[in-house]
Amino acid sequence: MITLQGAAKRFANGVQALEDLSFTVKRGEFVSLLGPSGCGKSTALRLVAGLLAPDAGAVRYMGGKPEIGFVFQDHTLMPWADALTNARLPLDLKKLPRREGDRRAAAALARVGLAGFERAFPRELSGGMKMRVSIARALAAQPQLLLLDEPFAALDEITRNALGDDLLKLWREDGLTVLFVTHSVSESSYLAGRVLVMTPRPGRIAADIALPATRDSRLAPATIEAQRLISGALHTAIAT
Ligand code: ADP
Repeated sequence: MITLQGAAKRFANGVQALEDLSFTVKRGEFVSLLGPSGCGKSTALRLVAGLLAPDAGAVRYMGGKPEIGFVFQDHTLMPWADALTNARLPLDLKKLPRREGDRRAAAALARVGLAGFERAFPRELSGGMKMRVSIARALAAQPQLLLLDEPFAALDEITRNALGDDLLKLWREDGLTVLFVTHSVSESSYLAGRVLVMTPRPGRIAADIALPATRDSRLAPATIEAQRLISGALHTAIAT
């Protein structure tokens, strides 16, 4: 679905965030982009989304640019708007008729377990629920590609695990393609089908690890084995 080929990005302040970054994400995959803080993961995600252009190299979409949903670490909800209005934002931007927008936004909220909370304001919702609204907003426009930038980093472990399980369910049910940025080995070992390990800045891919589909819980032997593999690759990436 997406190919980054030799992508480089240097910011105006002289920081070389990415250098020769190449990877492919196939339709229907759940891929995790993992690396130390500051290695350029967010920058890579913004290249994929077309929010930033690479200085060198290319970003290619097979079969045309897909509809993209983007979830940020901060929920980025409008505090003055209720959950339905927040979730409807991408549809409003597409100038969908209000009634159709409301219908789709309500359906997206129901998909993330927030039926009945349409009229709740962000201040009335817990951190996990705000993140759910943020995911509903990304889903409202029925994306083919979901990009998530450390979406659960600010949440407690119980909430983080519940949201991770729900994300897996959405991915399976909707046939989504997911690119999930994280610095957590345990998170990527359970959620992803494939983990791309990045080097410290300037970020490149140090390892591309396909994980077995048998990780049916966070403590399954296959998940623990995946953690060992990812951890080893990360260690090597940082040391070299
Ligand atoms: P990560 O997501 O892996 O933590 P980022 O992609 O956010 O890393 O950042 C990579 C590097 O680029 C960091 O050193 C960061 O400070 C720098 N950077 C990110 N965005 C900008 C920007 N708009 N201007 C200047 N430097 C930036």
